[in-house]
Amino acid sequence: MSEMKSVVVVGAGQAGATLVQRLRELGYEGALTLIGAEPYLPYQRPPLSKAYLLGDMDLDGLTLRPQSFYDEQQISLKLGSPVTAIDASQQTVTLDGKTIAYDHLVLATGGDAACLAADMGGNLDGIYAIRGIADINRLEPQIVAGRKVLIVGGGYIGLEAAAVCAKRGLDVSLVVASERILRRVAAPQTADYFRALHESHGVRIIEGAQSVHLLGDQDSGKAGHVCHARLGNGMALDFDFAICGIGLIPSIELAEMAGLTLENGIWTDEFSGTSDPHIWAAGDCASFPYRGGRIRLESVGNAIDQAKAVAGNIVASLNGTEKKPYLAKPWFWSDQYDVKFQIAGLNSGYDHVVKREGSDGATSLWYFKGDELLAVDAMNDGRAYMVGKRLIESGKSADQAIIADPDADLKQLMKR
Ligand code: FAD
Repeated sequence: MSEMKSVVVVGAGQAGATLVQRLRELGYEGALTLIGAEPYLPYQRPPLSKAYLLGDMDLDGLTLRPQSFYDEQQISLKLGSPVTAIDASQQTVTLDGKTIAYDHLVLATGGDAACLAADMGGNLDGIYAIRGIADINRLEPQIVAGRKVLIVGGGYIGLEAAAVCAKRGLDVSLVVASERILRRVAAPQTADYFRALHESHGVRIIEGAQSVHLLGDQDSGKAGHVCHARLGNGMALDFDFAICGIGLIPSIELAEMAGLTLENGIWTDEFSGTSDPHIWAAGDCASFPYRGGRIRLESVGNAIDQAKAVAGNIVASLNGTEKKPYLAKPWFWSDQYDVKFQIAGLNSGYDHVVKREGSDGATSLWYFKGDELLAVDAMNDGRAYMVGKRLIESGKSADQAIIADPDADLKQLMKR
């Protein structure tokens, strides 16, 4: 690494910030530029729908590293400056009308919150997304005790927003078009657990809506402001504002411009390299090979681990040493009321679930395909999560009778 090189990272989020730090830790001494569209120092997003929205955390708590860290590490941080173009043949990116040359470019551009289509009322005023700090700045003033909110979407973000709004004294309805909450990510038993939890806090959960059509109040002089929903199942609802948590659209515009292969986000190979040998991708925007298929993960754990893998492979490329494949070890968490929900593994392809009821309300669900343990959902059960995670990562199965026996010590599973 003697000759001066340039690494440019587009996207100053969880993956981008991890990547530049890791490059320095690995001894990369060349030019290093981290470019972010948002005007904030790189920050963590999970508290946006949890402690930050609740008012229990401030901006400093969100920030991953202070400005002094980037200064000391000689990382050129360009914030509030979206990259508007990539010229892959010249190996340059453009921002603020200037170009920066790269030897290696990383796309860590995350994604945007999906919205309802305009013909379903998605363009009305009074509909809020939860993806970035700017979204929370817009949403927060709406969260006033006694007001009525409609939350569209029953994934983690919708459920977390429902928990915060309920805790802050709002009248909360949550609606999902599909037959149940958490349909994409968890078994019916986990959905049952969270439905009951929310209903015990007064949240009205409406499943099987089929479709959600938002309408504005044309009569009150607030034309264009959402206040009413007509559901495909015939129900109608009135409310003061809406929060939309219906998923993420990976940011692929730059990748498209660079002519990269796209497949459920930016296609990457097992080393997290894209179809251009000088461009890499990490985090929410990147899909990668996993267990014979291809997945894209939207989680902090993946953003961090994949960014570290890319940093290692950039250094290997510069040094002419061997690159290492990125081996994802999926994990996730969510906080709702007093429940810490932790997930290890990915449940796709499961054929049955084993439930374990521990003490003090600890509950876990273990997903199997035949004898193979795929994933664990643990609600207030840190032990089940830890044991499950280790078993999944080491490719070991687990005795289902021990799991189902509330008196059995889970540690026994590790000895096999
Ligand atoms: P991001 O953190 O989104 O960063 C991407 C950055 O790239 C953004 O700042 C964006 O502005 C920037 N960018 C895009 N285009 C350009 C451009 N052209 N030029 C410059 N910059 C650009 N995960 C968990 O594991 N557990 C949780 O509990 C959890 N809760 C969450 C709650 C919320 C409300 C949200 C929104 C996410 C949550 N996640 C959670 C997911 C997790 O935050 C993401 O998976 C993670 O942030 C992905 O990191 P990333 O770097 O890929 O993307």
